Order: sequence, then structure tokens, then C-alpha cells
Amino acid sequence: MADFIAQYFTLYELVRSNRAETLHIDNSPKEAHIFANLGALATNTLDPLRKLLDAPVSVSSGYRCSTLNRALGGARDSQHTFGEAADIRVKGIDCYDAALRIFDAEIDFDQLISENKWDHKTGSWISWLHISCRRMGINRREVLTSHRGPSQSKMIYERGLFDPRIERA
Ligand SMILES: [Zn+2]
Repeated sequence: MADFIAQYFTLYELVRSNRAETLHIDNSPKEAHIFANLGALATNTLDPLRKLLDAPVSVSSGYRCSTLNRALGGARDSQHTFGEAADIRVKGIDCYDAALRIFDAEIDFDQLISENKWDHKTGSWISWLHISCRRMGINRREVLTSHRGPSQSKMIYERGLFDPRIERA
């Protein structure tokens, strides 16, 4: 589909969801402001990030209708439900390194979370970036790190960027 809503991103990429497909949830946005928010996210944040890092960006979760958000266990007022957030990975660039570079480049974003969880199945960390952008109002440029290690039962969120995959002294 060539329905680009910014230079590098299509509406389809920001709406499609493996979980929605599995659960037969219709995750297509209905309201005009959701489309506008997704456009702002792609144009103001994702496009500049893509240009900065000069590598393909894959979106694992963008817009989530409330049914999908519940299925994924997302926060009730998650920015995903407004079309203001995307979970991404950048090809060939570690998520933590990408987060540092995005922050240093002064790209416009509301919240950037370097997310890390231990996968007991594979015995390794899974990392991704959550990044959001508000179409209207102030973008806070707030940075957080989330982590759920092998012995933790839930995600812990802390201010700032650090690499929780490395033992901290
Ligand atoms: Zn997210």
C-alpha cells in the first residue's frame, strides 16, 4: 500500500497489528483527529528520526483502538489510543544507542521510552523504543527507561536513559 502520510511512513504501517489480526479486531481509525495525530507523529517525529539514523524503522505497534489496547494490556490512557505513539525498532541500531542519538538530536517528541524486558523463552532481552508526539500542545521531551529483568514480575519505569541489560554497580 502506498498511502504515505509522511515521507517514510504509510498509514498502514501505523495501524496494522499482529495481535489485532490474530484476534480479528478492526483496528482501523474512525475519527479525523486520529488520522491527524498519526500524520503529526509520522511527520514531526518519525520522519526526522528516520533521517537522523539513516536506517529502516519498523513499527510494531502504532495506533491502538481501545479493544486492541486492552488486549495488549496497555495503559488505559495510552498515547497509542490517540494515534500519538509508536513502538519501533531501527534496523542495525541497538535501541538504547538509538534513544541516545534521538535525544541528543533534539528531535521533537513528547515521550521517549527505552523499553527492555527479559524473555524467558529465549533467555535474552527484548528491547524496543516507545516514542510519542502531540499534534497540539507542548511536547515534553520526557525520557524514560523501562525494564523487567529475569527476576522481576512487572515493568519498572525510571527517568532518564540507561541500559538495564548491563548490571548496574
Ligand atoms: Zn508503546
